[in-house]
Amino acid sequence: MSTPIVELKAVGKHFRSADGSARAVLEGVDFTLREGEIVALLGQSGSGKSTMLRIMAGLIQADEGQVLYRGMPLYGTARGIRMVFQSFALFPWLTVQKNVELGLEAQGMPAEERARRAEKVIDLIGLSGFEGALPRELSGGMRQRVGIARALVMEPEVLLMDEAFSALDVLTGERLREEILELWQSGQIPTKAILVVSHNIEEAVMMADRVLIFASDPGRVRAELPISLAQPRKAESAEVRQLIDKVYELMTASSGRRGSGGGLISEREVKLQLGDRLPQADIAHMEGILELLAEEPFNGRADLPKLAEETELTDAELLEVLNALLLLGFAYLTNGDILLTELGGRYVKSEERQEMFGKQLLEHVPLIAYICHGLEQDKSGDLPEDLFLKLLRFTLSEEEAERALRMAIEWGRYGDLFEYNFNTGVIQRSEEDEQEAD
Ligand code: ADP
Ligand code: MG
Repeated sequence: MSTPIVELKAVGKHFRSADGSARAVLEGVDFTLREGEIVALLGQSGSGKSTMLRIMAGLIQADEGQVLYRGMPLYGTARGIRMVFQSFALFPWLTVQKNVELGLEAQGMPAEERARRAEKVIDLIGLSGFEGALPRELSGGMRQRVGIARALVMEPEVLLMDEAFSALDVLTGERLREEILELWQSGQIPTKAILVVSHNIEEAVMMADRVLIFASDPGRVRAELPISLAQPRKAESAEVRQLIDKVYELMTASSGRRGSGGGLISEREVKLQLGDRLPQADIAHMEGILELLAEEPFNGRADLPKLAEETELTDAELLEVLNALLLLGFAYLTNGDILLTELGGRYVKSEERQEMFGKQLLEHVPLIAYICHGLEQDKSGDLPEDLFLKLLRFTLSEEEAERALRMAIEWGRYGDLFEYNFNTGVIQRSEEDEQEAD
């Protein structure tokens, strides 16, 4: 095995929730980035990928465990480790050239040498002719090139890319990714190892020597898939398609900390608890996927990557939708294929979808069952949402608590379980129920 560059050993990180309690975002993360490799990191949003990268970049400190850079504990940022962010964090009043030179300037490098280094990188990354442009005069793709150039100009041996291509349109992202791979393979950049966080499964399989799948709550490495295919890889080749299948399979199995711990899950194993996050899935998307699955050519069974091709959803969105369908018992997984359950099949044809949806919610989403129970118990039949937010904040961050409740409310309204007053933030028993109660 080649030399380790950055090592994480049993790394943990906590953040405080709004109520002051500590929440584990990372726990027991073991990971070694070695010379000569590109590693891709995939995982649900909020699973702690960015936090892990920030720890590796020395931007924040781990609360537990060890971070070693070349065998020595990492304190603060290191010259040899650079991060590229998704948002184009450029200084708007500085030209491209000045933005790229910034890090060198901070190091006290003389102006002439700075300019020479910047020009070389600007040329490599396809920004020639734009040296004098301001960020706002550039397209998204060009701006992201500046972000990458700013990292590359430091000649880092470790490049950490946090969804660096996600904000770009598909073709632009692909082109930029290919260019980075070319620079890497041809040795035009001194970078010795790259870690990319991606939302795009194909991107991960096309680039990486290893794909890591991150689990949520708390974030940790749950599965690893080595990829030994030679570069350049062909996106359409059978080998690549097979690997994409495999990654989909590993990822859809990640809906919670419970379950089979990494292998396939059947719908029965997807069980939530009250304070868990909910998959962020629009009802329209869920129904769209169910209908797509039911129709030709799938007829109730689809290979996940093929299904992905047929939708407009991003991989991240699709995974959320699939997790919601698994959770509610409309679909199940087997061998990297998703299949409609008998219930899912009936749902697609049903005239009473809302009622069916409501029933599944009560059965499978504890938060929703809890809200309904509360409404039943309460005389007035209405409860302020803050009540539930407070509860969720024990286990989730402010932001996630909010997201989980929004989702529960949207789903519950559709399932006719309760109503919601957007002006007052009050959840109310639905009228039908009140009549029944009378
Ligand atoms: P990912 O990159 O996988 O989407 P992040 O690492 O950004 O995930 O976040 C993981 C979790 O940590 C999220 O729940 C997020 O809300 C929380 N988090 C991240 N940064 C902070 C912070 N500075 N303070 C509190 N919570 C944070
Ligand atoms: Mg992130």
